Amino acid sequence: MAPTAKNCADCGKLFLNSGTGKYCPECTQKHEKQMDEIASYVRDNPRSSVDEICSALEVKKSLVIAMLQSGRLEEININIKYPCAACGKKISHGRYCKACGKKITGEIAASLRRVRKNAELQKIKKGVYSKDQWLDK
Ligand SMILES: [Zn+2]
Ligand SMILES: [Zn+2]
Repeated sequence: MAPTAKNCADCGKLFLNSGTGKYCPECTQKHEKQMDEIASYVRDNPRSSVDEICSALEVKKSLVIAMLQSGRLEEININIKYPCAACGKKISHGRYCKACGKKITGEIAASLRRVRKNAELQKIKKGVYSKDQWLDK
């Protein structure tokens, strides 16, 4: 994919984006640094809430939540609750609560099955399978 100019989701600056990143290189770097700070703060204050972390370090709530969702704070063994990305129920790890996680994995599996089936049909249409192969089965 060719790089496209995109506005950074944090500072709003235009930057060339060749991947799926939402932030300009400076902000990405800044976030990395902030994530380190969050990790060490949480290590020292394992009982802190997301709001406490944000006001102590002046970081964005979304950054802390993103860290929690990606499991980056899990190894520190903290127990911070944040909302499920789908229904808003309080969870302590992952992106979704158990119920939503189950539903979403089910949906993904179903759509994967659909995609695979379509691909097979395409192959048949294109004649990838020869007659003999079909007769063999
Ligand atoms: Zn930026
Ligand atoms: Zn949920």
